[in-house]
Amino acid sequence: MSTEQREFQTEVKQLLHLMIHSLYSNRDVFLRELISNASDALDRLRFAALTDSTLMPDEALRIRLRVDPEARTLSVEDNGIGMNREELVRDLGTIARSGSAEFLQALEQSQRNELTPELIGEFGVGFYSSFMVADRVEVQTRKAGEAGGSDWESSGVEGFRVEDADRVNAGTTVTLHLKPAAGDGAETNYCDEWVLRAIVKKYSDFVAYPIHLTIEGQDEPEAGDTPLNSMKAIWTRPPEEVSEEEYKEFYKHISHDWNEPLLHVSTRIEGRFDARALLYLPSKAPFDLYHRETAIRGIQLYVKRVFIMDECRELLPEYLRFVKGVVDAEDLSLNVSREMLQQDRQIQSIRNHLVKKILDTLVELKQGEEKYLAFWTEFGPVLKEGLLHPDAKKERIFDLMLCATSHHRSRLTSLEDYVARMKDGQDTLYYMTGPSRGVIASSPHLEAFEEKGFEVLFFTDHVDEVWLEQHPPEFHGKKWQSVGRGEVDLGSEAEGGKGDEGREEQKAGYSDLMACLRAAIQDDVKEVRLSGRLTASPACLVLEEGDISPKIEEMLRQAGQDVPKVKRVLELNPSHPLLTRMREVFEQDGTDPRLSEYAELLYGQALLAEGGRPANPAEFSRKLTDLMVKAL
Ligand code: ADP
Ligand code: MG
Repeated sequence: MSTEQREFQTEVKQLLHLMIHSLYSNRDVFLRELISNASDALDRLRFAALTDSTLMPDEALRIRLRVDPEARTLSVEDNGIGMNREELVRDLGTIARSGSAEFLQALEQSQRNELTPELIGEFGVGFYSSFMVADRVEVQTRKAGEAGGSDWESSGVEGFRVEDADRVNAGTTVTLHLKPAAGDGAETNYCDEWVLRAIVKKYSDFVAYPIHLTIEGQDEPEAGDTPLNSMKAIWTRPPEEVSEEEYKEFYKHISHDWNEPLLHVSTRIEGRFDARALLYLPSKAPFDLYHRETAIRGIQLYVKRVFIMDECRELLPEYLRFVKGVVDAEDLSLNVSREMLQQDRQIQSIRNHLVKKILDTLVELKQGEEKYLAFWTEFGPVLKEGLLHPDAKKERIFDLMLCATSHHRSRLTSLEDYVARMKDGQDTLYYMTGPSRGVIASSPHLEAFEEKGFEVLFFTDHVDEVWLEQHPPEFHGKKWQSVGRGEVDLGSEAEGGKGDEGREEQKAGYSDLMACLRAAIQDDVKEVRLSGRLTASPACLVLEEGDISPKIEEMLRQAGQDVPKVKRVLELNPSHPLLTRMREVFEQDGTDPRLSEYAELLYGQALLAEGGRPANPAEFSRKLTDLMVKAL
């Protein structure tokens, strides 16, 4: 096949347009991106050579920067895996990689649709970032193990040209024809040796392959070909010798996250199996944290400093999937496959160690409130998924949990502090689930609890509905009890000052009215009864013990399951004047049509009070208006 002119994918054009036309201060990142691609290509070659040693070149694996100051060109050359023509067209003509797609999405969401330094600066935008500094880019490449090579060329506008070419060795050379200097002296000269040294040191020092520099027309330096980077795998260096900056740069390198990490932990596993790990907690949740299908970069696995794989899910349970980092194992086979990892005892033992280390770190972090709060806000819901995980130690997660509470309007509480504040004789952890803290806080279900001084925990995450539904283990010997479930008896005072006997009497007195109201709304509720949990509101809806919650019902239905509608119980407040009045009406005429209308209105109100809505809002509102007219 000869020369071919191809168009860029629309998204690529969009990205390139921004690259070329934005005024942007930190263009240096283009070099990090090209070096990282070269390093990836070398990793991939090394990995492929494990099964086919003929792929290994005679020369050592390396990256070379070549500068021609006269011609104003800078090239980044590697002897890695290379690309064949098909790959070249696909990889440098479309956006396949999640990072760039994510970038475009972030860009679209950014209000002005403008390439701000925040957006691009620390966001790996890959190969295309070379067009920030070059007005023409050439790529010459040859795939390891395949014959012939290909050339690619583009000025980053409409498309690119590809053609077959001769190239002796496998690998890739990316040549940038640097934009002409504006002459104001303000911009960085990427032909300058010291500029390049500084950028490599800053962004690529830990790259595992030597990065050499050749300047055309300049004698080789006396010291010979000394690499620009130290190449020392950061996790093998004593932590006291590694600077915060280096840790942060490394984090960006492995995570492709543009925010700084919240913290890092180094750990060493010794004994039967040896391994080292460097782990990071991000400071912000990635947008795809809850999309199970998308790859989460997570943990990289190395064996004796050799990169084996990205996203090694076997090393951490799913509820810790937000942790990023590197694990370097000493005794694994380099040929280990994903299937083998699942069975591997060493991996299991490393995994147990990492889980313990992370949870210990979080316990420690929890002492310093602010940072922990930042962590919890981003990742708390994921950590709580551990409560659904059969192997997870639930108590450890309970110890890390923070919840909204009726005790304080805005602060969160730990379970331990809740227990410490419990009333004498209280043996259950009271909680309520709902769509938001505000809705729960003003829900009628809490009235009697608040009046009697019982604190209630508020749960608003999706996952809360699920773990609370599954009979969670006790915490410090206390059971969990929803304030929206079953009958409540907080003692006689809450029932309007009557003793047990009084209550029974009251119940009997109301039983006919309750039956009449139930008949009016029996399609929606299974029972209407007097409430022990209301002091101010007239009505609320509660679940019977053992019934699934409306939220779970909805989730199951969304998951395509055929679930029967769960009817709840409408509880009415016997001390409310409305009820007293309704009983009088009922006693005068048990068939008064107002009674069934009131039943419907009370049911609708109870739905509204918990953040739900009546099945037919227009009809509800019409009935309410009719009533308002009558009352005027
Ligand atoms: P990413 O590196 O995140 O995949 P890039 O835009 O940097 O995104 O690169 C796109 C793709 O082009 C890479 O995934 C790789 O397949 C290919 N590529 C880029 N540079 C090289 C190289 N030096 N050697 C081999 N393949 C490369
Ligand atoms: Mg890249």
